[in-house]
Amino acid sequence: MSKARIHRHLAVLGAALTAVAVVASPAGADAGRLEHGCYNRATEPYTSAVDSHLHFRPFGGKAIPFDELTGYLRKSGVRHASMYGIGQTLPVNSGCTYYLDCPGTPVTPSMKNDFVNASDYAQEHSKDPELTLSMTFMDLNRPETIPAGIALYDSEYPDMFRWAGEVNLVKQALFPNHHKPATSENIKNWAPFMKTLRERGIPITLHSDLGSNAESTKYLHLMEEVLRRYPDNKIVWAHMGLSKELSTMNPDEHIRLMQRLLDEHPNLTLDLSWRVLEDQYFSKPGVRAKYASFLDRNPTRAIPGTDFVASRNKDFQVYQEELEVTSRINKALDDTAFRNIALGENYFRLLGIKETTPQVCRVQ
Ligand SMILES: [Zn+2]
Repeated sequence: MSKARIHRHLAVLGAALTAVAVVASPAGADAGRLEHGCYNRATEPYTSAVDSHLHFRPFGGKAIPFDELTGYLRKSGVRHASMYGIGQTLPVNSGCTYYLDCPGTPVTPSMKNDFVNASDYAQEHSKDPELTLSMTFMDLNRPETIPAGIALYDSEYPDMFRWAGEVNLVKQALFPNHHKPATSENIKNWAPFMKTLRERGIPITLHSDLGSNAESTKYLHLMEEVLRRYPDNKIVWAHMGLSKELSTMNPDEHIRLMQRLLDEHPNLTLDLSWRVLEDQYFSKPGVRAKYASFLDRNPTRAIPGTDFVASRNKDFQVYQEELEVTSRINKALDDTAFRNIALGENYFRLLGIKETTPQVCRVQ
């Protein structure tokens, strides 16, 4: 073979290897296959091994089939996931798949999506990924309807629901679709169902916007009221209160506020899901380091997630991208926070399941 020929040959081989490497990394590697019994961050993926915030049901229209979606998780190295319905469904006769496209169309919580999830969950007995079924039907503005709903679930699918949420306390994006924030009076009337969740050790994920760019902490008082009234419930704050409506809050101010709430409420956990956090905050110059050191200081207080919504117009590429984007913060974490957050130790502890994650290998 001529020199030039060999050179070309190597170039082609190199390109092929690169293509393989791109497919295999960062997602796709097997988190369970460890070289020295420890997790080597230099060679293993930085993408989270748990997805605590995953909507198996869309707002409306067709969903990605269960088997296909669990296949996405397996291919991405996600070993555990919470199986959320969706806290806001469009009417069945609506042609919409996304509420933002249909202002004026009312969206409401519904039992339908939980029942579809429960039925898939019961039939499939998925062990890889291991799934945690969640009840998402709760209308926090009508708390009097919730205990009867839980009783119905208990009779149809006993002991199967181990999580609650994501449910909406206040979600500004839904205001055009007739959603109203829960009131103090509503929150007081949550007591019966919050007692049930507490007794069962079930965490509840609340979507509760902190505020908007005009008033960054406009709705903080609602979340504080929940935390004050229900100090013994496991409460997970979706997206740390951030949203598209709140893209310009000073990160130092946000972190200070989160730290105060974590200090005051030991049962509060922060949910880091949704790519908006990376796009609007972590990716800005200097901001990632601030959040990473905040999480390093509070390594047991946060859980990861994609907030992927499984509507049929999406595919594996979209899931993989959302997992990668929402996992970028992991790279900046120290080993303790990485193990607790990205590998899933906090998620397991919150659920009270006897699963443990590997230690991170010590860099020589
Ligand atoms: Zn969500």
